[in-house]
Amino acid sequence: QSEKASGSYAFYDVEMNRLIAGRLYLESGMRRALQRDEFFLLYQPKVDIHTGQVLGAEALIRWAHPKDGIISPIEFISVAEETNLILQIDAWVLDTACAQAKIWQDAGIAPFRIAVNVSAKEFTDSLAERVKQALARHQISPHWLELEITESMLMQNADGVVKIMSEITAQGVKLALDDFGTGYSSLSYLKKFPIDTLKIDRSFIQGIPDDIDDCAIASAIISMAKQMKHRVIAEGVENREQFAFLQKMGCDEIQGYLFSRPLNVDVFSDLISKKISL
Ligand code: C2E
Ligand code: CA
Ligand code: CA
Ligand code: CA
Repeated sequence: QSEKASGSYAFYDVEMNRLIAGRLYLESGMRRALQRDEFFLLYQPKVDIHTGQVLGAEALIRWAHPKDGIISPIEFISVAEETNLILQIDAWVLDTACAQAKIWQDAGIAPFRIAVNVSAKEFTDSLAERVKQALARHQISPHWLELEITESMLMQNADGVVKIMSEITAQGVKLALDDFGTGYSSLSYLKKFPIDTLKIDRSFIQGIPDDIDDCAIASAIISMAKQMKHRVIAEGVENREQFAFLQKMGCDEIQGYLFSRPLNVDVFSDLISKKISL
């Protein structure tokens, strides 16, 4: 073996150990976080592109780590998925979002949709029942809830998937197809699914208006969504050029830093009654 090769093996071992230690640290940390209630939700407004009215919010998880500060879901969701801790975490998210909806409902605020992200592991036969129980436990109208699912979940087995989705939408809960355009599903699948909203992934919004490919993809998704009678929302809208383009193309809603970052619950509560000036 050459020196170079053994050197790189040694490096590989060190890296591997670091990765494994990092994962174990996260895993035990997340178990503790669930017990000690270290997770919290931020709410990012979804805004009507024509009126500026806040139509809903996406609930986005954060972890207030006692030593490491606020940790983003990008750092821990994939490890949570590998270890099945995601089931407990997403159950916590659903429960917390519904509890918050109950607070707003009791305050006399008109229902707007709180969108909760569903991980692939969670998308099983029991999902509709878990959603039903969460609504019942918190005594909220189903109009409060929307689930964001991704294309890859729909590819697993189409018939089973349609059944799960129909059981959810039959309750009055809406479904959005998240990160749309990044998966590999055949578009013909779209016809079969009881989806309310297509959510254009941020990666296609980023290059608007200079990147002609991004412009073409975003407009194609918007026009297809309209013709299929779906609503369409763009995520990651950061500037006025993107906003103007999307408005011109007929996009219904936008979400992104241009209007608001994800907000803590108190700030979001203040915002609900107001319109965002466009
Ligand atoms: P996502 O579902 O695609 O959520 C959108 C992400 O884009 C969020 O990142 C949001 O903060 C960010 N974002 C929103 N507007 C802008 C913008 O204008 N510019 C840029 N650069 N980013 C923007 P976040 O909160 O870090 O979440 C990352 C991902 O983690 C989410 O991607 C979602 O897949 C996952 N995630 C977040 N919360 C949960 C959860 O409760 N459960 C599960 N299973 N996954 C979650
Ligand atoms: Ca999402
Ligand atoms: Ca996305
Ligand atoms: Ca996503």
